[in-house]
Amino acid sequence: MTSSEKKYNIIGYELVLLIAILTGIGLWQTRNSTPQLIAHERNPVGIMGTSCRIIAVDDGSSRIDVENVLIKAEKKIRNIEALMSVHLDNSEVSIFNRSESGSIPLSLDTRQVLFHSLMMHRSSEGAFDITCRPIIELWKKASKQGRIPHESEIQLAKESSNWSMIEIINANSNVKKLSDIVEIDLGGIAKGHAIDKALNTIWNAGLKGGLVDVGGDIRCWGESPDGLWKVDIRNPFDNGVCAQLELTDLAVCTSGNYNRYFEIDGVRYSHIIDPRTGMPADSVPSVTVIGQITAFADAWATALSVLGKDGLSLEPFGNYEAIIITGSADNCKVYMTEKCSDYLVSDFPDGWEVTIIHR
Ligand code: AMP
Ligand code: MG
Repeated sequence: MTSSEKKYNIIGYELVLLIAILTGIGLWQTRNSTPQLIAHERNPVGIMGTSCRIIAVDDGSSRIDVENVLIKAEKKIRNIEALMSVHLDNSEVSIFNRSESGSIPLSLDTRQVLFHSLMMHRSSEGAFDITCRPIIELWKKASKQGRIPHESEIQLAKESSNWSMIEIINANSNVKKLSDIVEIDLGGIAKGHAIDKALNTIWNAGLKGGLVDVGGDIRCWGESPDGLWKVDIRNPFDNGVCAQLELTDLAVCTSGNYNRYFEIDGVRYSHIIDPRTGMPADSVPSVTVIGQITAFADAWATALSVLGKDGLSLEPFGNYEAIIITGSADNCKVYMTEKCSDYLVSDFPDGWEVTIIHR
């Protein structure tokens, strides 16, 4: 071997050694640095007449087509809307409402929501009632005519609002209409169900986290790039934010009479009806419910708007938490279940009276 061949050989060994060291450092760095989480967001418009935000979190190392996952999640929500909206003539709910008595063919999703609505009707002692559509329609019609419905009209509408006119044994069985006059409105639960379905799509894709927000009702799961997910609670008296929550793997749903209402003679009436009296439920400006399943959190928020703080001690509400804001702009009162303090990361504004409800 010549001296120049020796020299090249030495350089060859040095090069191999250098590459080995660099590869080692690279591998060590990959193992020791936490991968950066990236939030992919989609903001579809024209969903359920409100705003929509779908977020999926990826760590950049997977080969998952995140944009496609977001599109699938959006489709789930649109599909539930197409089945359950009372504003669409061809939705299953509209067909159900127009049908004469008898067995009505419905999709599994609609049967599930109907069955959960029946459970909620029982759990809330009648405060949550999807059969109260005739009362809602009466208030809508009267408000267009600028008048409060007559007592006799309310009584008549209440007679048509009755669960005994619907037969449903479980989500897998056929639904029967036992009377021509019964009509349903899933406005207090369908949004929550749609959020559950959309979030499941993100979860099933094997991502790191996700959040679905339809009109301020939210379910989140896993990690956000900043740790826990932040959820604001709106001040029902001035449109600002009155508190912030930090949590994950939970649903947060709010019902309030501040952005949806009937107006008659300059007076605002809640869009939530007390099925027991046939009157708008106006005593609770805002209810936020926190719990596992969005459909139930959504329905409980509507139910507690009717029941007020007394509803917090109902036994079936035991697995859910709530923040009820009541009173008026200059005399705000908050009633919240104990565990809510774990999620709150801000105080309510100065002067607000906060009562913790121990169960
Ligand atoms: P939310 O804003 O989630 O509380 O839902 C309110 C919607 O639920 C209303 O716009 C109605 O479509 C429907 N709704 C009103 N009152 C009730 C009630 N007592 N039980 C069930 N659904 C109701
Ligand atoms: Mg609701």
